[in-house]
Amino acid sequence: MSDRILVTRSSMPPLDEYVREIAPLWESHWLTNMGEKHQQLEEDLKRYLNVSNVALFVNGHTALECVLEAMQLGADGRRKVITTPFTFASTTHAIVRVGLEPVLADIDPVTYTLDPESVEALIDDETCAIVPVHVYGKLCDVDALADIAKRHNLALVYDAAHAFGVTRNGVSSASFGDAAMFSFHATKVFNSIEGGAVCFADPALGPLLDQWKNFGITSQEDVEYVGGNAKMNEFAAAMGICNLRHLPEEIAKRKKVTERYRERLRGHRGIVLCDEQPGVVSNYAYFPVVFEDDFGATRDDVFEELHVYGIYSRKYFHPLVSDFACYAGRFDSNATPVAKHVAKRVLTLPMYADLAMSDIDRICDVVLGCAR
Ligand SMILES: *Cc1c(COP(=O)(O)O)cnc(C)c1O
Repeated sequence: MSDRILVTRSSMPPLDEYVREIAPLWESHWLTNMGEKHQQLEEDLKRYLNVSNVALFVNGHTALECVLEAMQLGADGRRKVITTPFTFASTTHAIVRVGLEPVLADIDPVTYTLDPESVEALIDDETCAIVPVHVYGKLCDVDALADIAKRHNLALVYDAAHAFGVTRNGVSSASFGDAAMFSFHATKVFNSIEGGAVCFADPALGPLLDQWKNFGITSQEDVEYVGGNAKMNEFAAAMGICNLRHLPEEIAKRKKVTERYRERLRGHRGIVLCDEQPGVVSNYAYFPVVFEDDFGATRDDVFEELHVYGIYSRKYFHPLVSDFACYAGRFDSNATPVAKHVAKRVLTLPMYADLAMSDIDRICDVVLGCAR
């Protein structure tokens, strides 16, 4: 069906630009293991994100696992990591898969990011880190979280998968905390097909990350860590190099899409939209709408009705991590009532740079038509 509207559409550079970018690989025959494209993308990202330290990875999830391991969290016996249930499966899974124990705090009702007060109430002698998640391109309360981490001697590692290129008062989202993980998955604002990165404050972490992502090999005859294989290949890096050149126009287009949605949906009873945060320049990664109980239809009703018209929205994030089958008996989603409220009512509408204004109008007509 030609007029189906999918929830997202991956950004791609012009084909000839990508072909030009990968052509040198047919000369060098160097396809992975920190080749020329890998090095160039790291340099390009340092410039774009305005940071000194970047390590590339095969994807964002593995990047998060590697940074938690390279920082040796848990080595002093403290194994608890405070994070949010309102996130993608990756965040908690990474914590569990490296042998740490997630503790789930509640979120703020306006930003949907970790509520600092809820975080602080859960800290005890066994807590070693906080892993907050920026959501939809909105930033966490980075000042309050930095203050808590400092006062309690905790590591602060951001899941910044939704916040690539976002700044606050001119400061890059990549420079908050001890480290920030980005995802360059095909569905993200900036993609390298699959890919990810860690930006970090302490330069000593650089060699460790490079070793962890390459089997823990530390020199030709030494393997000091039980690392995995998480290297980004040259074709992915080349895609990243090309997509990064076009990113400012892509984000400008996403901003226009967001403005049109806001114009059409703002002020309707029972519809809650995300506002701009003061001082924050967003990347407009997603367009979430929360359908409160006085809207006249439930989130699930709206999701189904859009589907009838061939419009694909996403219940994101739903269910909460605490309600995943794999964590049955481990968490209680009633302990995080704000997260539970939002997860039950939020829907992200189709969002990508080339979404036509006429399609946004169609989507909004169907959404508003659900209110009875
Ligand atoms: C996409 C995403 C990840 C995982 O990134 P991948 O590159 O797909 O491994 C982690 N956390 C959040 C919040 C994400 O949206």
